Amino acid sequence: MVASTAPIASGVRIAGDGQRTRFILDLDRKIDVRAFALADPYRVILDVPQVNFQLPPGSGQAGRGLIRAFRYGLVMPGGSRIVFDLAGPARIENASVLDAANGQPPRLVVELSAIDQASFMQSLKTDGLKAEDKAPLRPALGDTGATGTVVADAVGPATGGEATDSRPVIVLDPGHGGIDNGTVARSGEAEKALVLDFAMALREQIEKAGKFRVVMTRSDDTFIPLAERVHIARSQKAALFVSIHADALPRAEGNAEGATIYTLSDRASDAEAGRLAEAENRADAIGGVNLTDEPTDVADILIDLAQRETKTFSNQFARLLADELKGATRLHKHPLKSAGFRVLKAPDVPSVLIELGYVSDKGDLSHLVSETWRARTANSVSRAVAMFLGRRVVSSGGAN
Ligand SMILES: [Zn+2]
Repeated sequence: MVASTAPIASGVRIAGDGQRTRFILDLDRKIDVRAFALADPYRVILDVPQVNFQLPPGSGQAGRGLIRAFRYGLVMPGGSRIVFDLAGPARIENASVLDAANGQPPRLVVELSAIDQASFMQSLKTDGLKAEDKAPLRPALGDTGATGTVVADAVGPATGGEATDSRPVIVLDPGHGGIDNGTVARSGEAEKALVLDFAMALREQIEKAGKFRVVMTRSDDTFIPLAERVHIARSQKAALFVSIHADALPRAEGNAEGATIYTLSDRASDAEAGRLAEAENRADAIGGVNLTDEPTDVADILIDLAQRETKTFSNQFARLLADELKGATRLHKHPLKSAGFRVLKAPDVPSVLIELGYVSDKGDLSHLVSETWRARTANSVSRAVAMFLGRRVVSSGGAN
């Protein structure tokens, strides 16, 4: 599709020092670029049309000068993004694409210079105004206007007649995507791909039974901000939201294995749960979402009331799920935990986050890439879903 005809990025270089840094990306044709900066953490975002990145593995892990590291990938159909993590506040002196010349291919060139924090914050304001003038190139990340497309694409053909379909909706949320790889195994497998495969298998299992409608927050390699995932669950009035992830443990921290099920809580149930929630909540910073203007669309008091009931349901489902999962795969030694995951914060949708296993563990990784394991484990999740929603239908039967 688009990808096969997309411009190709084939090489990248960073030159300069902590005062002035130049980023150069080799392309096979000219493209448009929009550059803007974000604070907290300091980042520079480059929005470009969909690009086929054919950069050497490991590109961006280590930067130079003002660019500490950078990432790249798809953020929406037809749109790619490059995110620089900055070493400190910087000004975008220039961001443009040069014609091929002197034996060099067309190049995207970005020049940054160091500035103080006050000037940086000032430049954010003026950048923001300019960005609104040229809206089309900038992906509407976190903007609810984008939801329609995501959901429409996500509803599979098997679900049919959405308007008259009164079946309960289950939102499956494969973590990460696009520019955000999630955890990465030493052998190179990325969480974003492993959890998408699992979610697709799970969707198939749930839809086979015909009782529920499945909506995916993403069904391809696209970045979706956390608030957007929550918004999809709420706008679909989902009966259940299941976020799917795969964890990793730094080598220094020993070994851990097995699946863990997380629910939302203010205080983490243990240090590992706290570390994990922090890591998962970094997804927006990784994808270049402006965290300072996140919408808060519900009053806190309402959230609190609705959340108490939702929390009970979430915990109920988590326990059912642990029971079913243990027949299909190995569980972590403490399989039920809680922490402040932003993606679980829909006040009115029971939500859990499954860490399927650790990509840092050989045994878990061999499961995660196995189709047999995936089918068996997805089947057990699908059974837990049916049991949970079966109970809820019975217990709320009087209302219908
Ligand atoms: Zn994750």
